Amino acid sequence: MAQSVDNLPSVRNNAPATAAVEACLAAQGALGADLVLLAPVDQAIVDVNWSETCRAAPSCVIQPTSAQIVSAVLQIIWQFQVLFAIRSGGHSPNPGWASIGEPGILLDMSRLDTVSISADASVVSVGPGQQWGKVVEALSPHNVTVVGGRLPSLGVGGLLLGGGFSFFSGEYGLAADNLRSAEVVLGNGTIVEASAQVNPDLFWALKGGGPNFGIVTRFDLVTIPIQRVYAEVVVYAPAETHTFLRALAAWQLGAGASDLRATVLAVSSLGGTTLAFIYSQPVAARPDTFAAFADIPVLATALPPTNLAVLELMQVGAGQVNEAAQRHDYRAVSTQIDGDLYVGMFDFWAERAADVHSKTVANQSFVIQPITSNLAQKGLENGGNPLSLDPSGMSWWTTLIDWEHAADDDVVRSVSIATTEEWKKRSNIGLEYMNDCSRDQDPLASYGSESVAKVCDVSQKYDPDKVFQKLQQDGFLLKKLGVC
Ligand SMILES: Cc1cc2nc3c(=O)[nH]c(=O)nc-3n(C[C@H](O)[C@H](O)[C@H](O)COP(=O)(O)OP(=O)(O)OC[C@H]3O[C@@H](n4cnc5c(N)ncnc54)[C@H](O)[C@@H]3O)c2cc1C
Repeated sequence: MAQSVDNLPSVRNNAPATAAVEACLAAQGALGADLVLLAPVDQAIVDVNWSETCRAAPSCVIQPTSAQIVSAVLQIIWQFQVLFAIRSGGHSPNPGWASIGEPGILLDMSRLDTVSISADASVVSVGPGQQWGKVVEALSPHNVTVVGGRLPSLGVGGLLLGGGFSFFSGEYGLAADNLRSAEVVLGNGTIVEASAQVNPDLFWALKGGGPNFGIVTRFDLVTIPIQRVYAEVVVYAPAETHTFLRALAAWQLGAGASDLRATVLAVSSLGGTTLAFIYSQPVAARPDTFAAFADIPVLATALPPTNLAVLELMQVGAGQVNEAAQRHDYRAVSTQIDGDLYVGMFDFWAERAADVHSKTVANQSFVIQPITSNLAQKGLENGGNPLSLDPSGMSWWTTLIDWEHAADDDVVRSVSIATTEEWKKRSNIGLEYMNDCSRDQDPLASYGSESVAKVCDVSQKYDPDKVFQKLQQDGFLLKKLGVC
């Protein structure tokens, strides 16, 4: 029989390892063995993390099924002063963000996986541990979808708290800009709502401020009237990469800035470029809006022109991602739209990526994500967010990196580190998009001093004991900025 949280022993001054074991036992006593899995935990639960860099075995895994249980767990964590990590989908490759070894507690949100659709299908309430593919699948019979992750297996919680870039962000803004409200468990165990009307400062901070304010146990998102989309995927040979990058910039400055139904997902690598043309309504043939790319010779067609359900589009994207049990990383920087700049940076990156590939077999990509000025505008219209985006168009560069051996971590990561440092010298936009940031980056600082001051105020107001700064193992935490 589970004991009440109120009957727990008082705070201990034990060594961390002992405190963690005692906290896990106390949690199991209070919440039951079904929700609290003591070490040694099942390897399959550890392996949920996408990257091997994050596979660590904690003192126990706790799998809450309600906000009340999250509240009880946070009280136990505070009482025993134990380190913890929160994992929703576990797609972050940053070690210690959504993973923790001994001594420490992993809060695995996978059982908070509700998908509940309002009677008029205008709002969907989603648990943080759900995956975006399941959310889109549930909405499909209602002929609506949601601004969320672009791959089916991506987690809801981490993506929304970092902002969330979707196929439909050019038209509708970031995923977080489409939040209507959220349920949050604060560091002291209090369960609160956050919306434009209730705790509006907390609501604003959640839309890109990361894991600094509380554990979100429910997200309410407005749906959008999209069900089927046009998609086509072509492959260009390596010799065409420069032409493609110049065409991309021309498109971003032209039709891509005005036709908000159109977007592209382009992944360049040493082996060429895979380019998806996406239009957010069904059409018979590739829309003229993509004319900037028409003259580039196509090496192969990966997906012939077709109209797809949104979930099917996500599944096409999943086919391009390495889901193997490997070490992974990503990294972020922003840039103005400039074809010559893209080409110069590609050459800078490719020289280093090729050298490291020859030594380690690491695969790396070079990805320019188009950010429309409308995306920033939508954020402002929906109450703003901490990213404080400049409402002139820009690009978010990122890279996905896959490699095998821990011994190669430094040499493999040196390519993207050097590339982002070089981008910063050549770019006039400082933003680092949190969801694509690597462990040593500082996205919160890149939001600007006004935003940082506001998120600090929110953190101090809602987490005065600094539970999420002191006891959360790691993450994009405000304490690292040294200003609050
Ligand atoms: C292959 C791949 C494709 C991607 N595609 C996209 C994309 O299309 N768009 C995009 O925006 N991003 C994308 N990303 C980045 C992705 O958004 C981040 O990795 C994000 O963190 C994943 O969410 P998650 O729930 O899996 O996070 P997790 O890895 O579980 O957690 C990430 C961080 O969020 C915190 N956190 C998680 N849940 C909660 C919660 N409920 N309350 C408080 N804190 C919490 C964790 O503690 C951790 O610090 C992609 C990543 C990969 C690897």
